[in-house]
Amino acid sequence: MSEQTKLIVEYQEIDKNLKAIEDEVNGSEEAKKYLSARKFLSTVKENLSELEAKAQAVTENYNRAIADFEKYLATAKEYEKTVETCENEEELEYLKKKFADVCAQIAQMEQTISAISKEMADLYKEYGKLGQTNKVMRAQYDEYAPKLEELKNSKKEEVAKLKAQLKKLEEQIDKTLMEKYAVRRKDKKFPIVFGLDLSKKLNYCPFCATSMPVSFMEELSLGAIKECESCHRLIYGFEPNKK
Ligand SMILES: [Zn+2]
Repeated sequence: MSEQTKLIVEYQEIDKNLKAIEDEVNGSEEAKKYLSARKFLSTVKENLSELEAKAQAVTENYNRAIADFEKYLATAKEYEKTVETCENEEELEYLKKKFADVCAQIAQMEQTISAISKEMADLYKEYGKLGQTNKVMRAQYDEYAPKLEELKNSKKEEVAKLKAQLKKLEEQIDKTLMEKYAVRRKDKKFPIVFGLDLSKKLNYCPFCATSMPVSFMEELSLGAIKECESCHRLIYGFEPNKK
């Protein structure tokens, strides 16, 4: 096993403890409650203003419908009055038909207004619900932000110790190799470095079981650390009986 391989393997061993602490913190009740509240609060303003815009559009529709309704009502009254004083038979028939038409329009408008009213009531309800959830989430945020901070603080010393150990090792590790490791660590791939027992003569990635070309295996036997093309884990070769 090359010096660099030993170093990166040792690095990962220590990093494993750091990862465990991170996982514990991220998976905690404190983190979950904090994050869900933060997520809600980050979008609530947008959602509230979206509802306000909708409410404004519906209100405008409502006002327009009411104006139309009143206009039809006035027309109907006018026809009614004219019918009372009309003596011409033919004209009377025409007016009656016109009156019936406008009455149908009034009935139609009543339905439209009732539908808009329902839409307004629904929006109002939704707005109220969002406001209520906002209150709950605000309280959840205020409660869990300091709790999460407290949890993080309780791990602070241990984390600092591990990070100091890692930093010391990092100074001895090849820069390109360290960067490759760091990228995968950021991508939440863990473990990152895998050893492949060359004595078994099996050319499969020890993590994802993708088969590897002969040239890849040759380089491993020469002490190189290679990247699996499929899972991008870092692979090194070793022989159990050789030091
Ligand atoms: Zn793989």
